[in-house]
Amino acid sequence: MTDPKDDLAADALVCGAGASGLLAALALAQAGLDVVLAGPTPPVAPGRTVALFDGSVRFLQSLGAWEAIAPDAAPLAVMRLVDDTESLFRTPPVEFRAAEIGLEQFGFNVETHVLVARLQALAARQPNLRLVPDLLEDFRFGAEAASARRVGGPRIAAPLLVAADGRASPARRAAGIEVSTTPYGQTAMTVVLSHAAPHCDASTEFHTRGGPFTLVPMTPGADGRPRSGLVWLMRDAEADERFAMDDAALARLIERRAHSLLGAMRIEGRRGRFPMASMSARRLAGTRIALVGEAGHVFPPIGAQGLNLGVRDVAHLVEAVTEARDRRLDIGGPEAMARYESLRRADVATRTAGVDLLNRSLLIDGAPMDFLRGAGLSALAAIGPLRRAVMRRGVMPQIGAPRAMRGEALQTRAPSR
Ligand SMILES: Cc1cc2nc3c(=O)[nH]c(=O)nc-3n(C[C@H](O)[C@H](O)[C@H](O)COP(=O)(O)OP(=O)(O)OC[C@H]3O[C@@H](n4cnc5c(N)ncnc54)[C@H](O)[C@@H]3O)c2cc1C
Repeated sequence: MTDPKDDLAADALVCGAGASGLLAALALAQAGLDVVLAGPTPPVAPGRTVALFDGSVRFLQSLGAWEAIAPDAAPLAVMRLVDDTESLFRTPPVEFRAAEIGLEQFGFNVETHVLVARLQALAARQPNLRLVPDLLEDFRFGAEAASARRVGGPRIAAPLLVAADGRASPARRAAGIEVSTTPYGQTAMTVVLSHAAPHCDASTEFHTRGGPFTLVPMTPGADGRPRSGLVWLMRDAEADERFAMDDAALARLIERRAHSLLGAMRIEGRRGRFPMASMSARRLAGTRIALVGEAGHVFPPIGAQGLNLGVRDVAHLVEAVTEARDRRLDIGGPEAMARYESLRRADVATRTAGVDLLNRSLLIDGAPMDFLRGAGLSALAAIGPLRRAVMRRGVMPQIGAPRAMRGEALQTRAPSR
């Protein structure tokens, strides 16, 4: 922890200490940069888990972070899609098995606050990483450096500012980077459930008219009962009534919605409530600023894409920055920032558009859309090569994946200062 009275200078200033900010700070520090990570510890979001795919797990391994997370992470070996829309063109369930593409599992599911806590512990031990637990304000972007002031305190300056400060991103706003936003009129309910039947390492996404209702495997509870995380997207109009239910009534409703797939259910802990929207920044980089995670892109939790995309932002940012440094270029200068933008643009645009399309296809109640969705799912069930291609692409982009996710070691270096 740094002294709150002193002005600070660093190679990189990371704003926001959520999962994306912690990963960016750790990765840049391990690449040899002198890093300041500023932001308070995020509050625990009730019932929130995050499924991390194979590429993200590899990246966490390359940072030396995975070992501490693994005991609390449940493998995801099967992903099942069930059309529960009652449309005329309903299809049988489609199952994706990791073994079909030569993986033991697609990835692992872990409680978001556990992931953040383990990354924080690692960050606290990282030698050339200083942690500042305050919010930043008064962002400035100059010719030589970006800087921001700790709320009520001195300034911190660095040639590169990494905005990992979430969807409202004050850093992005100060840099004048515009966003486009789409509200969906949907709310997500998240809750941890324990249940009678085992989940067998399978997640099940029921596609309903209000949006997906997804059960994702978790590690067993302290009493040994199997557990799953529920992410239930519903129309705003339905949310108040469901949130008003007591735990026992809600657990019965959830069991019915899940067609008793996991037997009798019990709600463990508090429920989380999140309004759904998608948001896309027009640019992911600008003068001395790079956006990572939800500062750059937000979409509904369908297909577990959000943080996985954020992890790839971080992995590509480290590539762009280390390439610039190795060529003796300015790490926050126009070339490095243009390189970051070009590495990220296609991946972010295709994921955002894909999730948006799937979500809208459920919300639009009409025969043509139902037919198209049904035909798509039937094709996935019947055509093995198509199914395997979709699985590989869902786990990681097949072209242009970050080096650290293709099994190449992260470029580590002794600190520059
Ligand atoms: C219900 C739900 C389920 C999800 N499931 C999955 C999943 O299974 N798989 C997946 O990959 N993704 C999933 N996601 C998406 C994933 O949770 C997000 O992508 C991820 O949490 C975003 O992390 P972040 O660090 O970018 O942003 P945040 O977690 O929002 O962190 C931003 C941080 O910046 C800080 N901050 C803000 N302003 C300032 C400031 N001025 N100065 C300093 N700090 C500041 C905030 O305090 C906060 O701590 C899910 C999302 C939801 C809503």
